[in-house]
Amino acid sequence: MKQSPEKVYALAFGAHPDDVELACGATLLKIISEGFSVAVCDLTRGEMGTIGTPETRKTEAAQATALMGYHCRRSLDLGDSKLFPTEENLAEIIKVIREFRPDVVFANSPDERHPDHVKASKLVTEACYYAGLQQLATTLNGTLQKPHRPAHLLYYIQFKHLEPDIIVDISETFEASRKGVLAFASQFYQEGTTEEAKTLIKRPEFLTGLEARARYFGEQIGTRYGEGFKLSTKLAISSFSTAFPGTPNR
Ligand SMILES: [Zn+2]
Repeated sequence: MKQSPEKVYALAFGAHPDDVELACGATLLKIISEGFSVAVCDLTRGEMGTIGTPETRKTEAAQATALMGYHCRRSLDLGDSKLFPTEENLAEIIKVIREFRPDVVFANSPDERHPDHVKASKLVTEACYYAGLQQLATTLNGTLQKPHRPAHLLYYIQFKHLEPDIIVDISETFEASRKGVLAFASQFYQEGTTEEAKTLIKRPEFLTGLEARARYFGEQIGTRYGEGFKLSTKLAISSFSTAFPGTPNR
């Protein structure tokens, strides 16, 4: 894993460590398999979580990062349950966007069960816009950063069922993405344990539920597995035949 502040194609933000892997890990693996770089930024350390210390979750995030093959992973430590749209929080996210200069940003959905996900969505959405403003100055290691507005912002689907605007065929990467999810072992049910599930994702059936959703979204587009996304703007079709492939008459 490189630590250098290079431009990446996609930057995925999550309110908590594991949000990204649980909701869009297979799509990120697909992007990497197509030869593009991906970075991940966790807005908090997940210190308010019912299970697992911040140290455990940090180790798990590092393991997930190595298994998934991300270019880099950042943790901003903005404070679990404190993701308010303050100037300071926005500046921290803008700095990361300007550092990695992504074409595509992934974020939590604006409509979600967990209030941190809703707050993270709002913060990242605003940061993507403000990061493009010339007059808004941020510095990194004493150097003034250049403005940068990501071209595309996609919201991944988590707990709450949302009707996706697009579905990505993840049939080739779904199995491999499970490694990234399972790296966050403290959060999931462990075979043979009798402890009571304290959280929704600690239930034995949670991972089966995730697979069921991927199957359901896959069914919608005629593939084995799919991952659904909401778009922040309408999808523009520049090459019609790339979007709707067929046989050319030449
Ligand atoms: Zn979360």
